[in-house]
Amino acid sequence: MIGGGISGVFIAYELLNRGVRDITIVDSSYPGCGATFRNMGCFRSSFTSVEHVILMKKSIEEWIKLSRKLGFKLKQNGYLWVARRDETVETFKKLASFHNQYGVPSRVLEPSEVKSVEPKLNINIISGAMFDPTAGRMDILEVFTKLYLELRKRGVKFLNYTKAEKLISDSEKIRSVKTSRGILEADVFIVAAAEGSREILSSIGVRLPIDPMPRHPIVTEPYSEVIKPALIIDWDTPGSPHITQTEHGSLILARDIADSPGLPLNSHRFDAFHLVIKPLYELLPFLSLVNIERYWMGYYDMTPDHHPIYGPVEPYSNLYVATGFSGHGMMMAPATGIIIADWVLEGKPRISIANNLTLTRFKEGKLVKELAVVG
Ligand SMILES: Cc1cc2nc3c(=O)[nH]c(=O)nc-3n(C[C@H](O)[C@H](O)[C@H](O)COP(=O)(O)OP(=O)(O)OC[C@H]3O[C@@H](n4cnc5c(N)ncnc54)[C@H](O)[C@@H]3O)c2cc1C
Repeated sequence: MIGGGISGVFIAYELLNRGVRDITIVDSSYPGCGATFRNMGCFRSSFTSVEHVILMKKSIEEWIKLSRKLGFKLKQNGYLWVARRDETVETFKKLASFHNQYGVPSRVLEPSEVKSVEPKLNINIISGAMFDPTAGRMDILEVFTKLYLELRKRGVKFLNYTKAEKLISDSEKIRSVKTSRGILEADVFIVAAAEGSREILSSIGVRLPIDPMPRHPIVTEPYSEVIKPALIIDWDTPGSPHITQTEHGSLILARDIADSPGLPLNSHRFDAFHLVIKPLYELLPFLSLVNIERYWMGYYDMTPDHHPIYGPVEPYSNLYVATGFSGHGMMMAPATGIIIADWVLEGKPRISIANNLTLTRFKEGKLVKELAVVG
């Protein structure tokens, strides 16, 4: 396994549960250090594409089971999608009915009803909202640590600070991977290295359409519980500003702002503060009293259609990829584990809609667009 983020770890967990032994996870840094430890910990199945809805619904079921098994906290307090315009309420009505068809109980709320979901919201500037009660959040550090320790206990080897530099192949199979610490041989190779996957696959002439797009979450001091839903999203403001509150009380605020792909993770865009906070402050005026404590950057590994790239890499019979999660890879990780383990062990995924998400879709022009790209 190349890449020790939540995707690599979950695929390894699924393979382990199905009897595969002798799994090694290679990471150029340390497990979790990529987008995994930089994410906001939120999950939902209220998306705009059938693929996302089905994969996330399955993932949420698996997350709930796993939280009981490994003993981590998981809260289903819902996502609140806020509309500032009447037309958006109409869009929410269509979207909620689409979700309902797939068993996701999203519903549209009048401004007065929104108060019961989030009492602090300024309902004078909104036209309505959509609420998905099955969405929620987890503490990603707790979740990842418990999974990592479980894998260690069950014999998975982690090779940290070991960069995969080049895949070595013949015409049918990958034979080995050249790493910064020597050559490793294996029967099966899985690349789950987020944007790093691009460089690895380019070593065998395979092009992955992924761009590392910077995100700039802003973190406040801890407060007692002030934000009731897992995430509040200002859908009508460009870049969909959003806010969550962590288990230890900090608020995290973020927005998609215009930026260059691959901007180094230590390039501080302090203008992000104003861009992120202003619209959220309009919705939640109490934010004027809140102190910012810190800020971090992380990448969304974005594909052109905002869906992951899953499955076999042709023409090699023992090479698989799971990358390009476009901001949703933490919540999708259980489905990722099942899908890739199925492909490796059974030759096809039992969640058949994953067949739409292979690398070949880009060559064939069969893109599957997801519009709701927010944590
Ligand atoms: C600010 C922010 C907020 C987010 N919020 C959410 C959210 O609320 N919910 C959600 O579901 N998702 C969210 N995401 C997205 C989510 O974090 C990612 O989709 C997910 O973590 C991807 O996991 P991964 O394992 O595929 O990649 P990563 O966690 O990036 O792991 C890839 C690993 O590969 C390693 N690697 C790279 N190149 C090589 C190489 N050549 N050799 C060996 N190892 C290599 C890296 O060191 C890294 O550890 C957010 C992301 C960001 C940045």
